[in-house]
Amino acid sequence: MGQKEYSETFYHPYEPYDIQIQLMETVYRVLSEGKKIAILESPTGTGKTLSLICATMTWLRMNKADIFTRREANSENNENGGESESEDEPDWVNDTYRESLLQEKLVSLNEYEKHLNELNITGRKSSKTIHDLNKEDGRYGAVESLRKRRRRNQHIDISLEEQDFIPQPYESDSETYETIVGLRGARLLDKHHRLSELSSEIKTLLNRIDGKISMDSSNSNCFAVLNQNPVKIYFASRTYSQLSQFTSQIRLPTFPSSFRNKVPDEKVKYLPLASKKQLCINPKVTKWKTLEAINDACTDARHSKEGCSFYQNTNEWRHAPDTLALRDTIFSEIQDIEDLVPLGKSLGICPYYASREALPIAEVVTLPYQYLLSESTRSSLQIDLQDAIVIIDEAHNLIETINSIYSSEVSLEDLRNCHKGILTYFNKFKSRLNPGNRVNLLKLNSLLTTLIQFITKNFKKIGLEIDPNDMFEGSNIDTLNIHKILRYIKVSKIAYKIDAYTQALEDIESVRNEKQTNGAHRKPVSSQPLLFKVSKFLSCLTNLTSEGQFFFEKGCSIKYMLLEPSEPFDSILNQAKCVLLAGGTMEPVSEFLTNLFPKVSSESITTFSCNHVIPKENLKTYATNQSEFEFTFEKRMSPSLINDRLFQFFVELSEAVPQKGGIVAFFPSYQYLAHIIECWKQNENLTHLNKVRKIFYESKDGEDILAGYSESVAEGKGSILFAIVGGKLSEGINFQDNLCRAVVMVGLPFPNIFSGELIIKRKHLTNKIMKSGGTKEEASQATREFMENICMKAVNQSIGRAIRHANDYANIYLLDVRYNRPNFREKLSRWVKDSINSEQTINQIISSTRLFFAAHSRNAH
Ligand code: SF4
Repeated sequence: MGQKEYSETFYHPYEPYDIQIQLMETVYRVLSEGKKIAILESPTGTGKTLSLICATMTWLRMNKADIFTRREANSENNENGGESESEDEPDWVNDTYRESLLQEKLVSLNEYEKHLNELNITGRKSSKTIHDLNKEDGRYGAVESLRKRRRRNQHIDISLEEQDFIPQPYESDSETYETIVGLRGARLLDKHHRLSELSSEIKTLLNRIDGKISMDSSNSNCFAVLNQNPVKIYFASRTYSQLSQFTSQIRLPTFPSSFRNKVPDEKVKYLPLASKKQLCINPKVTKWKTLEAINDACTDARHSKEGCSFYQNTNEWRHAPDTLALRDTIFSEIQDIEDLVPLGKSLGICPYYASREALPIAEVVTLPYQYLLSESTRSSLQIDLQDAIVIIDEAHNLIETINSIYSSEVSLEDLRNCHKGILTYFNKFKSRLNPGNRVNLLKLNSLLTTLIQFITKNFKKIGLEIDPNDMFEGSNIDTLNIHKILRYIKVSKIAYKIDAYTQALEDIESVRNEKQTNGAHRKPVSSQPLLFKVSKFLSCLTNLTSEGQFFFEKGCSIKYMLLEPSEPFDSILNQAKCVLLAGGTMEPVSEFLTNLFPKVSSESITTFSCNHVIPKENLKTYATNQSEFEFTFEKRMSPSLINDRLFQFFVELSEAVPQKGGIVAFFPSYQYLAHIIECWKQNENLTHLNKVRKIFYESKDGEDILAGYSESVAEGKGSILFAIVGGKLSEGINFQDNLCRAVVMVGLPFPNIFSGELIIKRKHLTNKIMKSGGTKEEASQATREFMENICMKAVNQSIGRAIRHANDYANIYLLDVRYNRPNFREKLSRWVKDSINSEQTINQIISSTRLFFAAHSRNAH
């Protein structure tokens, strides 16, 4: 279908800005032209998420009919040995054939839509919204009482009996269903089962069409099964709150049906996937605090004699009226993750497993990064990316996220603590453990002892590469052993048992200490058992070494790092129709091209960057040309730079920016800021500056200063915040309006080239270029570019905090003469680059700043 057939505004619920139309048109074109990747930069506050929803949904609705018919024709072709539709037939014969397939499909789709509509109307009549359901009596009354119980549970201290620490007897050679038939066999059996299920669904549908049976929730399943969406939109983001924002946005537009005449109303089948921590409704399980503990407790509950009362792994459960009712209610209107919990409680059905059953029918699915980026998670959740439109939001940190999912690190201290914990546990419970548990715990401890000895003996310098075979040289441990131990940790849940026991001992200890020290020595509770961290590291030992590298890292650690993030990303690219990487600051784009999809041809990649929605006069960027402002490693400690130039700049800027507007300055590292503060304390500069503006500064182990700074700004006191690039305040915080009228970037925040990670990365890059026939000069150019990209990405992220909505205004100050060099300037986000002013001396910059704020003060009156 052509572009002219959709609304020019892509069904955007508001009058879209020009840049929103440009973004939507780009996305639509990318999908229509079959491009593989789009890198989309649209600053925060420009309505990026809504534009992405409108463009992708419009494309999907315009093309679904085509996709449906092609799919049907192909599957018929395959089933009939390619006889149904032939290239030899005239076009009109093929067209008629496709049309007949589509008509069959539409009958079932329309029936299902009617069913969802009825559900929605019934739901509205009885309760208006899901939130209201909780307050009502009757069926949904149970929800509130469960909620109350749950709230009470949160205050109940978990008391554990000794019995709770004992794992189930472990038989090391026991085989699971999957180990007997093999993973592939299990999948095949599952497929056969689904196929036989489908044929019974088709029979039901035919009966329904013939008027032999009537529609109710139990036979609605056949319409649902037949209406599996052929192409899905997957939207992945970093946090649940960002996913929740997506939900609120997708509620706003109304999209036309894909089959306007035959199915007048087509609901957006939206499914928010979430973890058991968000969705579990079993009070015995939700009492645990961490995701790992909840996952473990769920497995225990499901495998216990009574099972979990909200879930059964049977087809009866999947097809039970309440399970289907939950699935269909999810699709009857846009539901948030939070809505699924009361829904599940009201029906007594586990929302986590029910939402997995709903996946084939969903049209738009939101999910956290981990679910999308980890191949094993995708496979276990049966997330199929075939032909999907994948949107990755906040994608500026995508490479780091992939690296962290597939990398692992363990320190000597971790290993020692883990070893000690296992020994303490073993000594306490050994007489009550069965032989399988005893043997495996002893093996695990011997493995840890070998690793401890290896680090103690061999840790010489950071960045030293390690051959994994050397770690176990002279011991009788091999990869097979590690596999068995990992399986034991997984199946026995021993990590959780040991952690709970050591935690209980520490609690007793800390209560004792607290009495003596008034709580001053209370240790923070770790979010996951230490043995999980160790076992993630052990699992890397079973990886192919060509994918990554082991090396020594600071803190007497061994790290395994993935060297080529493009490898795991390939599996997404190979399956998906298109991958859209979106973010407020996507520059430098070359980082993605070289690291994430080096094999994709440039014709298949579209890049888009738009300006901000704010008027031009709301943002000015200044890059000084004064050579004294150069914060290189050699020059940045200069007393005259710190005590005269830099200090004087902040005093003058503090006076030029109105008192009610905050100033946020970013420094390259904690150490450097600490040094500056120390210098200014000694010569009383700090006292002087404090008289002009109240100073707040980040320190490595210091407390959170954001609340104090925000309060001070709200009170209209002149305030200045010194923060760290890559620190707690450089990401995820909106410094909008008066919270930040001036953002200063002091120097260029290059990463520490002496970190083990960067030593290995640079070496890998050099080797790769040399191996492929490159010169030394090309290799050093590539490593320089690699370092500059990391640096400029951090700059874009930090300064991108300032402007957050269409009426916001602020200035950006790039305080290092090197920002005038093309290699750095080119890597700034477009909206920053386009706002760079001609004033370059500090005097000019300060005068221009006064004029900028005077103009805004006039406009405000
Ligand atoms: S099956 Fe569902 S409700 Fe039951 S424990 Fe697991 S996540 Fe919770």
